[in-house]
Amino acid sequence: MQGNTLKGKTALVTGSTSGIGLGIARSLAAQGANIVLNGFGDAKEIDALQTAITKEFDVQVAYHNADMSKAAEIGAMMTFAADKFGGVDILVNNAGIQHVADIENFPVEKWDAIIAINLSSAFHTTRLALPSMKAKNWGRIINIASVHGLVGSAQKSAYVAAKHGIIGFTKVTALETADTGVTCNAICPGWVLTPLVQKQVDARAEAAKISGDEAKRALLAEKQPSGEFVTPEQLGAVAVFMCSDAASQMRGVSLNVDGGWVAQ
Ligand code: NAD
Repeated sequence: MQGNTLKGKTALVTGSTSGIGLGIARSLAAQGANIVLNGFGDAKEIDALQTAITKEFDVQVAYHNADMSKAAEIGAMMTFAADKFGGVDILVNNAGIQHVADIENFPVEKWDAIIAINLSSAFHTTRLALPSMKAKNWGRIINIASVHGLVGSAQKSAYVAAKHGIIGFTKVTALETADTGVTCNAICPGWVLTPLVQKQVDARAEAAKISGDEAKRALLAEKQPSGEFVTPEQLGAVAVFMCSDAASQMRGVSLNVDGGWVAQ
């Protein structure tokens, strides 16, 4: 859906060169927000993404390649956004990675990377975005958590710990901004078919010697009662709603969009 409800605002979406982050960036741009993209990928493809969003929605789109596991690079990205657009009005903490292994076989460096990228990066972006949001008395911080912020799954210790952590961080951010025009909420998606999940589909197909489609059906059947994937566009629409005036008293909420996963 296109409109101009966010015209004049700037949205920074971490990890927006792919998947959910890209879907959310496009939805915010469709409402007129200028966008700061971030994430890894081929330079030419990222250039093309920037151009496509600029043309399709008539907004300004910048890109910063900060590694979300590095506090100094996050600082540089926030300064870049402030110089370019005068601050970040909408911050979407989305960048994330996954690794699947039993605790006793979980590589220590993977644990550290997941906690840094999926949890600590949100602390750094938030602490650096808040002063200008508070000064303008308007801001939206949207943390992309997961159903794994609400329930666990075996072999995902670091991911589940980071996602539970970001839900706690969401509540504290909401409380510290409760008497301002800044809100902070989390979205908790179930399975979304992005590169992050495709890897898990491929691993399942290989282990069970089944086709990719069978692996997708099995993955959904195990956890997601709707039997359908959530889409980045649906999550983008939820993010747009969280930016609206109607959501100005939604504070510290973790909203699951999960095909019924957590209702079980
Ligand atoms: P994805 O792999 O498609 O995208 C991840 C994005 O993060 C990419 O743009 C990637 O370049 C970026 N990224 C990864 N490491 C980075 C780093 N160190 N610094 C900067 N950027 C980095 O994954 P996705 O499925 O779109 O996941 C996005 C978020 O949604 C993650 O936080 C993930 O945990 C969460 N999530 C995904 C699902 C799902 O089913 N796909 C479900 C619930 C939550």
